[in-house]
Amino acid sequence: MGKGEVVMWEECDVIVEKREQDERKKKPESGEQLGFGTRFTDHMFTMIWDREHGWHEAKICPYQNFSMDPAALVFHYGQAIFEGMKAFRGDNDQVYMFRPEKNLERLNNSAVRLCMPRIPVDKVLKALKALLYLEKDWIPAAEGASLYIRPTMIAVEPRLDVKAAEQYLFYIILSPVSAYYAEGFNPTRIYVSEQHSRAARGGVGMAKAAGNYAAALATARQAKNNGYTEVLWLDACEKRYVEEVGTSNIFFVLDEELVTPAAEGTILEGVTRDSVLQLAESWGLKTVQRKIAIDEVIAAIEQGRLTEAFGTGTAAVISPVGELGFKEKNYSIADGTPGLLSQRLYEELRGIQTGRKDDPFGWTVRVG
Ligand SMILES: *Cc1c(COP(=O)(O)O)cnc(C)c1O
Repeated sequence: MGKGEVVMWEECDVIVEKREQDERKKKPESGEQLGFGTRFTDHMFTMIWDREHGWHEAKICPYQNFSMDPAALVFHYGQAIFEGMKAFRGDNDQVYMFRPEKNLERLNNSAVRLCMPRIPVDKVLKALKALLYLEKDWIPAAEGASLYIRPTMIAVEPRLDVKAAEQYLFYIILSPVSAYYAEGFNPTRIYVSEQHSRAARGGVGMAKAAGNYAAALATARQAKNNGYTEVLWLDACEKRYVEEVGTSNIFFVLDEELVTPAAEGTILEGVTRDSVLQLAESWGLKTVQRKIAIDEVIAAIEQGRLTEAFGTGTAAVISPVGELGFKEKNYSIADGTPGLLSQRLYEELRGIQTGRKDDPFGWTVRVG
C-alpha cells in the first residue's frame, strides 16, 4: 500500500492511499463484455460518521473488504441506502458526470427518511471527482460503455435494539460497465403485477433504500419465469394506478402527450425522469405528471392512442416497452418496435452525457 498523501477538503482533509502500481488489477480489454457490476476498480472512497465527530476519516484507499461487527445494525434492521450514477469518457478522453449533485441530494433525502445522517454534497462531489481522476483509465472508451458509480451508506453501530444507529459508513465504489444495449435498442416485455406492490403511501418508496430492492425480487422472478423482462408496479392501495417499471420510471406517449405518474411519495424520482421531462418540454412536447390507471393504459393501447411506452433510469437511459402482460392477456404497444421519441431521447441524452452534444441545461460536470 502506498504512503498516504493528503488533498485539501476544506477544513477536513481527504487522505489518499494509493495502491502500488504492481498491485493494481488488470483493466478490462477494450470490447470485453463486462455485464453489470461484476468488476471493480483499484480504489474507493470511504468516510465514517458518529454523533461526536460527524463525518470524518474521509479517504480514498485501495478497494478492499470491510471488517464489521456481526451486530452492525445494517444487518438486522436494514438501514442501507445507495445511489447509482455514471462517468463517461468523451472525445479527447475528457471525463464527464451527469447531474451528480442530484444523486447526492437524493441520497440525503433517502438518509433523512431512514434516520441516517446527511452527507456534505459539495465535499463528497469533490472527493468523487478526485477518485474518478485517479481511476480515469478504468472508464471504458467503447460506445455506450461507462464507469458506474455506487455511493452507499450503511449503519455500522453494533447493537441489537431497534433504533437509529449512531455510527455509519459511507463509501463509493466504481465498476466499469458495457453498453446496456449490446444487442440493439430492444423493447422489453413487461408484466403487470396485481399480487405484489413496491411501495405504499407513507412508506419508503421515494428513497433508494436497499430494502425496496429485496422486496421486489420475488415479483421480478415471477415475471422472468413467465417470459417477461420486468415488472410494472401498480399502487399498493387500489392496484389501479401505474407507478414504476422494475427499477425505472415509466413514461407513455398518450394522445401525443408525454405522460408519467406523478411523484407522490411512492415512486423514486429519477434523475433520468427529470431530464426526460425537461428535454421533451424544450422540444415543444406537452408533458403531464398525473395519476394514470392501468385500465386507461390498456384502453389507449387498444384504441391506438398509446403510441410509445418506455422506462427511464441511469443503467439503460431509455428502455422501450414493446408489450404489456395484464390479466392473462398480452398487449403489443404500437408495432412492438422502439418509438421515435424513445430513440430521440436516448440519442440526445447519450450525446449530452458524453459531451458530444450541446448541454443547454448545464447537466454535465467535467472531471479533471
Ligand atoms: C434508481 C431508480 C430509478 C431511476 O432513477 P435514475 O436517477 O434515473 O437512475 C427509478 N426507480 C427506482 C425504483 C430506482 O431505484
